[in-house]
Amino acid sequence: MIRTLDTTALLGEGAETASDLLLAQMLQMEFDREYDAQLRREENKFNGDSKVSISFENYRMVHPYEDSESSDDEVDWQDTRHDPYGPDKPSPNAKRGFVGKGKEITTKHDEVTCGRRNTARMENDQAVDSKTRLLLYKMVNAGVLESINGCISTGKESVIFHANGGSMDDKMVPAECALKVFKTTLNEFKNRDKYIKDDYRFKDRFSHLNPRKIIRMWAEKEMHNLIRMQEAGICCPEVIVLKKHVLVMSFIGQDHVAAPKLKDAILSSEDMKRAYYQVLDMMQQLYTECKLVHADLSAYNMLWHMGKVWLIDVSQSVEPTHPHGLKFLFRDCKNVSQFFQKSGVSDAMGERELFNAVSGLNIKADNEVDFLVEIEALEKINEDHVRQMGKRVQMTYESDVPKEN
Ligand code: ADP
Ligand code: MG
Repeated sequence: MIRTLDTTALLGEGAETASDLLLAQMLQMEFDREYDAQLRREENKFNGDSKVSISFENYRMVHPYEDSESSDDEVDWQDTRHDPYGPDKPSPNAKRGFVGKGKEITTKHDEVTCGRRNTARMENDQAVDSKTRLLLYKMVNAGVLESINGCISTGKESVIFHANGGSMDDKMVPAECALKVFKTTLNEFKNRDKYIKDDYRFKDRFSHLNPRKIIRMWAEKEMHNLIRMQEAGICCPEVIVLKKHVLVMSFIGQDHVAAPKLKDAILSSEDMKRAYYQVLDMMQQLYTECKLVHADLSAYNMLWHMGKVWLIDVSQSVEPTHPHGLKFLFRDCKNVSQFFQKSGVSDAMGERELFNAVSGLNIKADNEVDFLVEIEALEKINEDHVRQMGKRVQMTYESDVPKEN
């Protein structure tokens, strides 16, 4: 079966191709693919029932997962099975100089929904640059995706597309997928530096990276966080594959219709109460089992699907020991608490109680200001601890680490 790509979806109706080169590459790849299919047919005809078969492999133009665009910052299909940033191992060569405290916490809810049915063409052509289009094209060409259908959401930092799943050798690809394309324009990511710079899992690499790689790291971070969550049995999208700044995951929804955000979903009061207890459970699991704080948890990043709440959007999630981890957790608790209280769940705890229930801490302050003071004190202790661990580990490895200067 030859898969074809709906290029109008990728290029935008009537949109001019950003470069003739891209178009030429696309056409060439399509041509190569057809050539290979023809070759395969001839190979089969040639070999027939014969016990000895002749392979035409060397004549093929397109190899599975081939990436013709070679550059030194190439990232291969990441291995989604391994999380190299395991919770209890600060990097052995942790460098000094992770800085930053107490800056403003920003959030990011200004997404414009493109419409529920994803038959719409890619409206905002700028959302996806030519390199990204080629990357998406290659995924279809490699057969991982059957087709890419249209935009589900466009936010400041990412664009989400619906896609029909194809197949992979070692993994089931769901019939419906969501593609999260992290925008390669850095502007919106600048104020999120602290999420990643101070995360010991990434800070080592951070300083050496160019903007493109930093964007990829966000995608990578989302992937690893989702995997941790999935392993803990938390309802969240399943990671299918990561290719550079494009994350392919399972689609939460059905028949091209994305599940509604919890803020838009209409729930009976019984369902709302159940949703609350499920969210409470998930926050606790996230904290204790995944060693993560969502850090942007609100009714915008929870979807209501098949009678359950699904957590999404975890690229900014951090470990509780992150210098602002507890502050982020408190903000999450505030959003969750306020949402469910407003939605009429009388059992819903207040934010401070919820914070203690999730973290297992026992902060007694009876007002927000004092509560936050205690949180900051704990963060300081955490930070010192991580710093010391970094140093200790570094001392152990000192002879192995090439000296600077
Ligand atoms: P951001 O908020 O950073 O733009 P999100 O990951 O929250 O990115 O995705 C934006 C929106 O796209 C979500 O609110 C949701 O409506 C939709 N979406 C994201 N991932 C999926 C998914 N796996 N399945 C269905 N819809 C999704
Ligand atoms: Mg979101």
